[in-house]
Amino acid sequence: SKRGRLDQFIAGTLQIPKKAVRLLLVTNKVLVDGQFAKSPDLQVDEFTHIECNGVVLRQYQKQYYMLNKPDGVVSATIDDKHATALGLITGVNTDMLHIAGRLDLHSTGLLLLTNDAKWSEALMDPQHKVDKQYLVTLANPLEQEYVEAFSKGMYFGFEDITTLPAQLTLLSSHRARVVLREGKYHQIKRMFGRFRNPVVALHRESIGKIVLDKQLELGEFRSLTKAEVDSIF
Ligand code: URA
Repeated sequence: SKRGRLDQFIAGTLQIPKKAVRLLLVTNKVLVDGQFAKSPDLQVDEFTHIECNGVVLRQYQKQYYMLNKPDGVVSATIDDKHATALGLITGVNTDMLHIAGRLDLHSTGLLLLTNDAKWSEALMDPQHKVDKQYLVTLANPLEQEYVEAFSKGMYFGFEDITTLPAQLTLLSSHRARVVLREGKYHQIKRMFGRFRNPVVALHRESIGKIVLDKQLELGEFRSLTKAEVDSIF
């Protein structure tokens, strides 16, 4: 791709000699990804944000993807035992990507990946009121009493937290829809665990207004539209 030396990039963009670029570097006039750059041979590419004397020379390109996560794929960047979600994002630079809201190994459905940390923080911050919607299949029949327990919130002694009100809708004897505004460790499994009812399948359908694209087969991904990216604010 467009990978190359920093001094070459600045000299080419500003139409100045490399000697002049060195002077800019040693006098702290060049910011690369928010840090003062000193070395002319620093490698930069299309994902590097470069500023010179307060002027943006290259805008850091933000990336946002939705993946239909298959069962058995870990929500991680590297793993020695299992295939990773990052590994399924092919044909694009994935160096800076992270997962915005992980799913358990056996959970499936909507997984968001981005290099925009502010965006993913907002997505995961309960204050932002971004609802995450899941389709859950249980081992044992569901009971009406679960609904109130979910909406009241549950206390988890291990972390000393009470979950925020969660919406539970019974769809059939063994299937339900759950809407959460947060994502504690194994939260849904642990909430059904209170009733000794194991979760046998968990599928994320949406995060806020971002709905898993029906065109995506398990393991497939696509870029988010601008409307989807902006929808969380
Ligand atoms: N809750 C869980 O228990 N697992 C997930 O993957 C997501 C929410």
